[in-house]
Amino acid sequence: MKLLEERIREDGVVLPGDVLKVNQFLNHQIDPELMYALGQEFGRLYKEETITKILTVESSGIAPAIMTGLLMHVPVVFAKKQKSSTLDGSLYTAKVYSYTKKVENTISVDEKFLSANDNVLIIDDFLANGQAVNGLLDICNLAEAEVAGVGIAIEKSFQKGAELIKKRGVRLESLARISSFRDNKVHFVRSSEND
Ligand code: 5GP
Repeated sequence: MKLLEERIREDGVVLPGDVLKVNQFLNHQIDPELMYALGQEFGRLYKEETITKILTVESSGIAPAIMTGLLMHVPVVFAKKQKSSTLDGSLYTAKVYSYTKKVENTISVDEKFLSANDNVLIIDDFLANGQAVNGLLDICNLAEAEVAGVGIAIEKSFQKGAELIKKRGVRLESLARISSFRDNKVHFVRSSEND
């Protein structure tokens, strides 16, 4: 998606450890118009599917997920990373190792928000080694929900996540695909659509 690639080129900062900082528009300050455009693109890519729910994980997945839910007219559920006193029902849980924070979190979703009647679209901001999406897929499996696919804003294609998701037999659509951070610059995977 050209608009997102341009914004990454303009405002993205490459940090050590193959981390891209996008605090200008996604991870701290949020550009709602850009998020709306991401939602439109996910809506276009998954228009043949009857999605009943968007699933993401707090906190940075929420902005693109909510715009996708708005455009698809379906609720957005975000998995929580912290145990909370408001989570008083039965929970689906999965363990997720955080790429940026280097800690393992147990993510959880209240059982009442996901069921075997759902056809889920998983949305997240980044795909690195695929641990976050993997945990969300585990939660869908526990709920016996169908998964229509995964929508990622920024995929780092040189890491293992895309392969992991495809191995699980799940459709993956990423709006910007980064091939490397060579010379501290962002290089994108070229596709005919991007050229
Ligand atoms: P994964 O679970 O695929 O290894 O990593 C995905 C999660 O880690 C995303 O939800 C995102 O929050 C965070 N993450 C991974 N790589 C990056 C990155 O390069 N930049 C930022 N800002 N977050 C990242």
